[in-house]
Amino acid sequence: MKTIDDFNFKDKKAIVRVDFNVPLNDQKEITDTARIDAAIPTIKKILNDGGSVILMSHLGRPKKNPDEKYSLKPVVLYLSLVLRIPICFAHDCMGVSAQMMSKNLMPGEVLLLENLRFYAEEEGKARLSETATEEEKALAKKEIKERQREFARQLANYADVYVNDAFGTAHRAHASTAIIADFFDAQHKMFGYVMANEASNLNKVLNHPTRPFLFIIGGAKVSDKIAALENMLNKVDAIIIGGGMQFTFIKAMGGKIGNSLCEEESLFVAREIIEKAKKASVQLHFASDAIIADKFDNNADRKESPSDDIPDDWLGMDIGLKAIKDFSEVIENAKTILWNGPMGVFEMSNFEKGTKSVAEAIVRATQKGAFSLIGGGDSVAAINKYNLKDQVSYVSTGGGAMIEFIEGKTLPGIAAIEKD
Ligand code: AMP
Repeated sequence: MKTIDDFNFKDKKAIVRVDFNVPLNDQKEITDTARIDAAIPTIKKILNDGGSVILMSHLGRPKKNPDEKYSLKPVVLYLSLVLRIPICFAHDCMGVSAQMMSKNLMPGEVLLLENLRFYAEEEGKARLSETATEEEKALAKKEIKERQREFARQLANYADVYVNDAFGTAHRAHASTAIIADFFDAQHKMFGYVMANEASNLNKVLNHPTRPFLFIIGGAKVSDKIAALENMLNKVDAIIIGGGMQFTFIKAMGGKIGNSLCEEESLFVAREIIEKAKKASVQLHFASDAIIADKFDNNADRKESPSDDIPDDWLGMDIGLKAIKDFSEVIENAKTILWNGPMGVFEMSNFEKGTKSVAEAIVRATQKGAFSLIGGGDSVAAINKYNLKDQVSYVSTGGGAMIEFIEGKTLPGIAAIEKD
């Protein structure tokens, strides 16, 4: 992987795609600065070499240009406090002003461009009126792709070097994450530290695991996780399946699941996965018992039940005590652990025990020398909720990108840099 460590930025301008898609409150204050903090080492390396930095990012899902609610302006103050230098801000990422600001940028200076997604060209999705005819839609789609290329070319013109450090959007083939790379030769496009770190940790887990290698998967929807399960079947020694998605499997094996989550259309695929696991000698672990509730509510009546014999009108909300014990044992014997998706409705205090216990078992396994990687929105939320982030080996910052990586897909943001 070509990273910024392989390049001297002296007197060079680098345009860096960062992930500054940070949460803001009503007062436009940043409520979690983690994504900005993650980009700081990359920015500092370029500045310390004697280069200048042009930062570009998206924030939220704006539908027009400009859209004040989604302005990146609130980032300026925080960034200048952390870097201890004034930050220039281009109120429009396109146009003469941004061109001049990037042209005049001196070594040691930083310019932040306004939200790229103010322009539909960034994502390459046409903003169509509801009354557009099919013909108009087809034409608009073709046109936006052409304009997207031009948009990427203009961004590329601001700088000598392109750095991608936004793992969170690496699964998108957008102007700033992939297409822009076409305008730089192989020596002048590279990965920042966030990207390099994510890719090397995921690569280590997926392609060079110490065995036994355990995949823990949970969450709500089976259909969202099928591709990941199929790919992981070829790589792991064992899989723990928990969360709402386990009930489709339990039903597929003939269990009675009451009102628990179930995707009827995925029953066939669930059976197939069970068969494939058998053939590949991958052990599948399901929860033997569940905490069930009479409604989807933290204050619902609740009781324990075998997870394949849940009474009608009751639903499985968390894994049970026996399952916690069984899963903990499997986890503590693993040497490589990849966890995606909670074991139950962990947002509700009465149904969080399974998820919390699994997180704690992963911490114990890590203390015993296992390499543990946690990724995907809700498992990261869980590990943060229980303050265990620093006690696992690695927490991935990219939800969708991480899932696509474990599905075995090539991420456009990575491929764009690696191709000549
Ligand atoms: P996903 O985005 O597919 O990883 O799903 C995460 C969501 O799954 C979380 O919001 C959990 O509350 C939910 N979840 C986990 N277990 C269950 C369950 N047994 N029944 C319903 N929802 C669940």
